[in-house]
Amino acid sequence: LPYSRVELDAFRASMEGITERIRNAACTADILNAREDYLRLYSEYHTMSALAYMRYSVNTADEFYSAENDYYDEAGPAVHSLIADYAAALLDSPFRAELERELSPLLFRSMELQRKAISPVIVDDMVEENRLISEYSKLMAGMEFDFHGEKLPRPALLGYLKDSDRTTRREAMECLGTTLEKNSAELDRIFDALVHVRDRMAKKLGYDNFIELGYCRMNRLCYGRQEVAEFRQNVLRDIVPAVSALRTENAKRMGIEDYKLYDNEVLIPGGDPRPCGKDGIFAAAREMYHAMSQETGEFIDMMLENEAFDVDSRKNKWGGGYCTEFVKYRQPFILANFDGTAGDVDVVTHEAGHALNAWLIADNRFALELDCGGMETAETHSMSMEFFAWPYMDKFFGEDAGRYEFMHLLDALSFLPYGTIVDDFQRQVYENPDWTPEERKAAWRKLEAEFRPHITFDGIPYLEEGTRWQYQMHIYETPFYYIDYCLAQTAALQFLLESRKDYAEAFARYVRFLSQGGEKVFTDLLEEAGLRSPFQAGALQAVAQESEALLRQLEAKLDQP
Ligand code: ZN
Repeated sequence: LPYSRVELDAFRASMEGITERIRNAACTADILNAREDYLRLYSEYHTMSALAYMRYSVNTADEFYSAENDYYDEAGPAVHSLIADYAAALLDSPFRAELERELSPLLFRSMELQRKAISPVIVDDMVEENRLISEYSKLMAGMEFDFHGEKLPRPALLGYLKDSDRTTRREAMECLGTTLEKNSAELDRIFDALVHVRDRMAKKLGYDNFIELGYCRMNRLCYGRQEVAEFRQNVLRDIVPAVSALRTENAKRMGIEDYKLYDNEVLIPGGDPRPCGKDGIFAAAREMYHAMSQETGEFIDMMLENEAFDVDSRKNKWGGGYCTEFVKYRQPFILANFDGTAGDVDVVTHEAGHALNAWLIADNRFALELDCGGMETAETHSMSMEFFAWPYMDKFFGEDAGRYEFMHLLDALSFLPYGTIVDDFQRQVYENPDWTPEERKAAWRKLEAEFRPHITFDGIPYLEEGTRWQYQMHIYETPFYYIDYCLAQTAALQFLLESRKDYAEAFARYVRFLSQGGEKVFTDLLEEAGLRSPFQAGALQAVAQESEALLRQLEAKLDQP
């Protein structure tokens, strides 16, 4: 894929020209033409910056792409401000009503929301917020954990929480707690400063507190605090009792009577099933997508022929994982670091779900401006694909397919109470910006007792005080982001349950959901797919009951030799 740098000066001149044409337009057609020019320009910028980042991440020692990537990091704020001016010209245009009819009212609502989240009066506060976030990221990344004679970074330590030996898990969590405790003054100071700077920005923009501003930033077009409050009640009423009963029984099966926080990552006796290796995973993925449908077959062939996966762990490669796309070339790309665990399979299910969506919506009229919709919609695409892959799990896990399905479903269900805690904790914190660290910890303890009553924290140093949130990075770095995963999970679970009744029909509804991402809001997409909105009272009752029944079926098979 050819790369050439998008020079900021030329980009600025073109953007200013486009914005001027919109401001001085004599008719709607002039504006629509200017928008076409904007789309071409932005597609180029989007593609080139994504290519630079990809080539940097596959080899961080590559001097050329490392410098290119730094260049886009630096150009980013100026580019976004030019785009904000362009959006403002559209929003304030005397032809707006006609434009909304010609284009999409959704596009205008989205631009409006973005404008509500930003203003010159909060620029200094935004800089301060970013500085604090970096401070937290650096603190967490630099934290070393002395464990069994080794100095481990946090992800490696957290890996021990999956160990089948309970003593190892307890010791790993004790190590986590005591190390966090040594940094507790810093962790509290940074969070307190973040809460106050966010509260200040919200008040400068005329909001009561940060919550509404946080929602604008997340570009939420179809739900607000009321809807999320309803969702929280649904989780509490229907999901919590089911999860608590299932997890308690499951722990007993593993000989655990006093379920502790360090038992929570272990879902299955004998440890997580392991998939076949890399070649096996890709062969299985090709077979699976061909069996699913004609379009998914074409999709996987395209991905493999174009070498759109980079999954080997190697020196100088960035350690995480992502799915991105190069819009100009209609090419999705997936980066991962295979480590032999069940997580490797997520690369060809979860990440490939994102990639399939990007590929299917490449020709949508508003794909560049509205992407695939909100985060909750994007995660519905990927989390649902994980479940649509179930009938093919024997290709990845052989005889352990049933064990994998049990683990996957129990994990998915258990996530809902936890994710809700993370969200509601933030709501309470931003409603009470002057809380002391002690009051925040007390709020977390109360939420844990309510949403995860089966787990005890007693005797776990520091974490028993109510500090589990201090290593949940989203709470510091991306406020109010977490609930999106929960909402997506409820949609994905519904797709799973529907697929057990009529796979072909459920899959067709899923593809339709995928293909319209961004063109419609989440709640409308759900309705069209015949799924219940998680915001309706009682919406999760059937999900809880049917998931529990399915888990019991899978569980019965587990015990068979
Ligand atoms: Zn995802």
